[in-house]
Amino acid sequence: MTSKAIKVHTTTATTCPYCGVGCGVLATTKEDGTVSVTGDLEHPANFGRLCSKGAALHETLSLEGRLLAPHLFGKMVDWETALEFAASQFIDCINTHGAESVAFYLSGQLLTEDYYVANKLMKGFIGTANIDTNSRLCMASTVAGHKRAFGTDTVPGCYEDLTCADLIVLVGSNLAWCHPVLYQRIMAAQESRPEMKLVVIDPRKTATSDLDCHHLPIAPGSDVALFNGLLSFLEKNGAVEQNYVDAHTTGVRGACKAAGKQGLSTIANITGLPEQEILQFYHSFLGTERVVTVYSQGVNQSSSGTDKVNAIINCHLITGRIGKPGCGPFSVTGQPNAMGGREVGGLSNQLASHLSLENLEHRNALQKFWKAPKMANKPGLKAVELFEAVKAGKIKALWIMGTNPVDSLPEADTVRSALETCPFVVISDVVLKTDTTAYADLLLPAAAWGEKDGTVTNSERRISRQRAFLPLPGVTKPDWWITSEVAKRMGFRDAFCYTGPADIFDEYTRSTGLVQSDKRDLDLTGISNVDEAAYDAMSPVMWPVKKRCKAGKPSFEKNYRFFAKGHFFTEDGKARFIPTPYRKPQTSPSKEYPLILNTGRVRDQWHTMTRTSLSARLMAHIGEPFAELHPEDAENFAIEGASLLKVTSSHGSIIARAVITDRQLKGSVFVPMHWTDQFTAKGRVDCVVSSQTDPVSGQPESKFTPIAISPFRASWYGFAVLREKPNSLTPEYWAAAKAKGGWSLELAGLQKPDDCSAFAEKLFCCEDGALNQNNNDRALVYNDPTKGHIRIALFEDNQLKAALFVACEPVTVSRIWARDLLTMNFETTAQRLAVLAAGPGEGQPDRGAIVCSCFSVGLNQITNAVVKDHCQTVNELGAMLNAGTNCGSCRPEIRRIIDEALSSQIGQNRKC
Ligand code: SF4
Repeated sequence: MTSKAIKVHTTTATTCPYCGVGCGVLATTKEDGTVSVTGDLEHPANFGRLCSKGAALHETLSLEGRLLAPHLFGKMVDWETALEFAASQFIDCINTHGAESVAFYLSGQLLTEDYYVANKLMKGFIGTANIDTNSRLCMASTVAGHKRAFGTDTVPGCYEDLTCADLIVLVGSNLAWCHPVLYQRIMAAQESRPEMKLVVIDPRKTATSDLDCHHLPIAPGSDVALFNGLLSFLEKNGAVEQNYVDAHTTGVRGACKAAGKQGLSTIANITGLPEQEILQFYHSFLGTERVVTVYSQGVNQSSSGTDKVNAIINCHLITGRIGKPGCGPFSVTGQPNAMGGREVGGLSNQLASHLSLENLEHRNALQKFWKAPKMANKPGLKAVELFEAVKAGKIKALWIMGTNPVDSLPEADTVRSALETCPFVVISDVVLKTDTTAYADLLLPAAAWGEKDGTVTNSERRISRQRAFLPLPGVTKPDWWITSEVAKRMGFRDAFCYTGPADIFDEYTRSTGLVQSDKRDLDLTGISNVDEAAYDAMSPVMWPVKKRCKAGKPSFEKNYRFFAKGHFFTEDGKARFIPTPYRKPQTSPSKEYPLILNTGRVRDQWHTMTRTSLSARLMAHIGEPFAELHPEDAENFAIEGASLLKVTSSHGSIIARAVITDRQLKGSVFVPMHWTDQFTAKGRVDCVVSSQTDPVSGQPESKFTPIAISPFRASWYGFAVLREKPNSLTPEYWAAAKAKGGWSLELAGLQKPDDCSAFAEKLFCCEDGALNQNNNDRALVYNDPTKGHIRIALFEDNQLKAALFVACEPVTVSRIWARDLLTMNFETTAQRLAVLAAGPGEGQPDRGAIVCSCFSVGLNQITNAVVKDHCQTVNELGAMLNAGTNCGSCRPEIRRIIDEALSSQIGQNRKC
């Protein structure tokens, strides 16, 4: 268990807790309690690389905001009280209303061992499958698509395929920002093999499209039509791998018939792509043997997500391009352990170890293995349904583990009101204050990354150890322990007496051998029966890991691929072609809601920012919620650049900063998913998102909600830097971001405060009269009534305590300069007065918005390096400014900035 003594001056090999790439991290603890992190050169997922988030992991380890003890109805209690209460509430609920009245909602942040225990309790002992996970929002459509085609949820390929493919098709995946280390792997491959081609299919021109690629700005929700067209094209143009299709698949005719219904002009119409662009893509696919199609949330988060997955798989099956080096459909998962959750039955329609809930033989085998009293025998509620059932009063006791559904589920305000009315809500989390923990009756403090031990599985089926290198703070406990202790108090002591994660891992791996192994993809029997020492020392390993051979070594391949020779996990061993007739999205734009909302991630943030918000460096990249829209839409709806706008759907509305760019498709608006009520006044975009789901996978449509936009008519705008974050903020719009030495705040309101000094005093958390102008060494005020500009600065012990810049229009002060003020000394009055100048003085160039987080290099520095110092490549710029030379996550942005600066230079030269 994680209570082992933590040694200082040691380096621990662990795994990054963010995305599904699953990078190996080396964490070194120092005597002063600080930790440094580097990429693990030996980890096969990243070979030493880390992205900006991974490289900043050590900056997120503080105990700031941590939940350190159980809280019952807001009061701190001991574990015994908390566990007894949780168990008794679940027992009462089950006895009174039946097993179907309780539910668990888990997270892809949990380790496989945590997931396994929670699933065992719910599906084998409580006897219902009402247990789902936020991975439902991430890749449930892939799971459903895999199962329809292969019989099991099997990822056929591995990361090595990305380096040996001759064509990579990226669909609905901003890999550069969401899976940066994989993106860098592709960049490196393309640099060494310039003949490697890339096609990026995405409505937006994202950072990923800055690669040397063919970008297809497809209309949202039309991917099925594009891939159906490809299937038809492949069939008609001699690309059918007949031997493979005949020997290893069924249903090709039906799929081709369904796919052939639309001709090229219709496909062009549906996708919004010119016919010649479509044909160019089809010819590339046709003429390249080694093709990998990488897809992610743009495919999965759709009301036709499962069909999109199968439309892609069909194209690989018909060409036999699957399971061979450089070939195959490849889903990359969002969360660090979405795959581990899938393996142990984290979704409400699965059993542990890829056993099927609907299969009696599987259920019986697992029941016997678990000695379970009451197995679930039908699928439970999927995420959206589960919270609908809470709202309808059908779920009366709910346990949420490590996730923030009040922000991350669609129609999030409905989720919030559902939790408000739920009779018993228990939440285990690492953070005390989230938008979801506000609704907990019982809060249970869980161990965080760096404190817990277990395993995770990445997108290529590679299992890695997450290892503890920090002591458990307060009375926090690992999730598996918390669940097991509740289970024991519910009367299931014998089945949940685990000694630690190694014990659970052993049970789980043994369970993968329960049913005939040739019908099963997931086989970990080769690493079952390992003792604690072997578990501790376990190297990353890709499954399957079959039973040990005679020599005693487990049998596995470094880069295992499935299906090159068929052997699918269906009854007849053949893959299924799935007919995927194109369906329009379930909703469409209307007069009232004429635009389409697309949600996603930004480079330096993770989920609802509970961890990444602790790093000032990461918050410097993008500090507030924004809405990216096309210039024509901006003009049509009177939205000005850098102003604020309202984004409204029939479910809710938010306020965000306008970013106007022709990288955005006309008619579509992109808003990041990260901001919550903890960091902004009204930026929870999922309260706008519709809860339409895919009929097969139950995954919500997070990328297609009809919306309206309108200007938020602020009468004043403000920007502040402060040492302390104010406890309460009253303006209609605010967004807070951690800065080195304090916070920065964006502000705006409908009515300018009558007394700006009084407003500032409240904002600065200082006593009345602190901003008295007579006190001019400490407080400085500049007021220009003609322009409506007010600037106020307050100093304490030669340091800036806070500064506020107010204007009638969006404040133009350099954000990076102002954030840096919190780290400077102000010895003289002249230095203090310079703050009121609202910008860097002579000899202090404005770096501009931060592009490279690792070395804090800004946009203006990069542009100057191009214009004045004639840098023309990312490498030249790196040599000059260091930008892009550490984690490399910013390299696509740098490349775009260089290209834009060069082309504007050319334009100017032409004018001359
Ligand atoms: Fe972590 Fe970045 Fe690697 Fe993802 S790509 S696992 S976020 S370091």
